[in-house]
Amino acid sequence: MKRRIDHDVDVVVVGAGPAGSTLSALVSMQGHRVLVLDKDLFPRGQTFESLAPSTMYGICRFTGATAQLERSGLAASPGTSFRWGGDPDSWAVDYAGSDRLATGAAQAHHIERARLDQILVDTARRQGVEFRDECEVVDVLSEDGRTTGLSYVASDGVERRITSQYLVDASGSVSPLRTIAGAGGRDVQDRGTARYGYFSGRRGTDRPDNTLVAAFDRGWFWCTPLGPTLTGVGVVIRDRAGVAAGARDEDLTRDLAALVQQCPAVAEYLNGSSRIGFGPHGRDLRWQVSCHSQESFWRPGMVVVGDAACAVPPLPGIGVHLATYGALLAARSINTALLTGGDDTAVFEEFDNRYHAEHRRIAQLLDALRDHAVDRESLAELLAGVSSRDPVLLQAPDYIARRDVPRWFTGEGSRPAPALPTAVEPPPDTPGLRATDDGFRWRTILSRPSPAAVSPLPIG
Ligand SMILES: Cc1cc2nc3c(=O)[nH]c(=O)nc-3n(C[C@H](O)[C@H](O)[C@H](O)COP(=O)(O)OP(=O)(O)OC[C@H]3O[C@@H](n4cnc5c(N)ncnc54)[C@H](O)[C@@H]3O)c2cc1C
Repeated sequence: MKRRIDHDVDVVVVGAGPAGSTLSALVSMQGHRVLVLDKDLFPRGQTFESLAPSTMYGICRFTGATAQLERSGLAASPGTSFRWGGDPDSWAVDYAGSDRLATGAAQAHHIERARLDQILVDTARRQGVEFRDECEVVDVLSEDGRTTGLSYVASDGVERRITSQYLVDASGSVSPLRTIAGAGGRDVQDRGTARYGYFSGRRGTDRPDNTLVAAFDRGWFWCTPLGPTLTGVGVVIRDRAGVAAGARDEDLTRDLAALVQQCPAVAEYLNGSSRIGFGPHGRDLRWQVSCHSQESFWRPGMVVVGDAACAVPPLPGIGVHLATYGALLAARSINTALLTGGDDTAVFEEFDNRYHAEHRRIAQLLDALRDHAVDRESLAELLAGVSSRDPVLLQAPDYIARRDVPRWFTGEGSRPAPALPTAVEPPPDTPGLRATDDGFRWRTILSRPSPAAVSPLPIG
């Protein structure tokens, strides 16, 4: 294998999932040179995703992806229906139950994963990011304890090296970089096997546009209305007994439909639908899921975001929210460090504290959900992705003012858009640095070009 130096960038990102493409756009928008590498050929993937309001109207609006997402004809849900624990009755949480969402933002959207990835990558490209697919990162470079770049192998089989000021590991839940870079330990609190597939036909429920989360003996289902007659159905099986290794495809297909019959709430929701057993929607897919968190999300010269850093079991919109919010927090730290130079410890600790706090908040609320000890408003905020109160995650008033929002979009009881605060308040449990008014960096003290020139960062 030939080895040669390729080039030098400010930031190199491993992985073009929601975390990697969001972070790269936010750093490139501040004028830095960003390269994203992904081992897969894009577009790819068979899954579906829900986007929380914080993703659709917050982060994606910030990067410029929202308009493209809207043009792609997403399905929308005003809320999530639950059938959980020993309570025999179903109940629903509407996003409009959170006062923090602006008018028109109180809904989740659903999209097939391949389209989501492509839109986020296209957005990052429009913001100046260079993206290369079919490039597998195989090594992390370091010097005197600081990460200085990586090496990767492209489809031509040539190994190349990139040097960078910061390396971002956004390589997902089975991140290979964790072992390569020797990052800190990982705390796994819960795990299971997710299986998912597609059903076609009308949904037999009084709230057919809601997502459904329903517990049963062996785990829980989440059902995603992808269109009037298309539903994505996933199940997390915590005992793993239902997923025999090496089972034939037809057994797996039968198993998902059979599992649905074990959960009356899902059987009722899908009454009128049947499992699609052929074509692109016909495969029965599996994924190991876990609630995990790295001990630390950064080390000198390197940050970890998205599922590589922390994750929770699938709930509508939450995985992508955690990935993109972590990307925003990390981008603020990288943008600040690249601007100010010098000791970057404080800004990366800020990222680390806030990101751990967000993961903890969601994991705790999930525990509370299991115990039925959570109020509807907190759950609406959790599902909307706005528990941290970071204004970038809320829909900006100027954005909604430009749109003609149909009546059915906003629903009953819609509120006027809240004014956007002038500075991003830290959430209550993470006192620390504030974000700049434009949301791209942390407000701190310039340490460059000389200590004499100390002044607050420019605003806007
Ligand atoms: C079955 C299932 C359904 C889900 N549904 C939802 C949902 O409806 N809504 C929701 O919000 N969340 C959902 N999630 C969670 C969500 O998919 C993840 O949280 C989200 O994709 C994390 O994004 P990421 O960018 O961190 O990682 P990923 O999306 O996993 O992206 C990582 C990228 O890194 C690349 N990569 C890995 N190794 C290398 C390497 N060595 N070199 C180069 N590239 C590499 C991979 O190819 C990949 O593109 C679901 C999860 C599961 C298991």
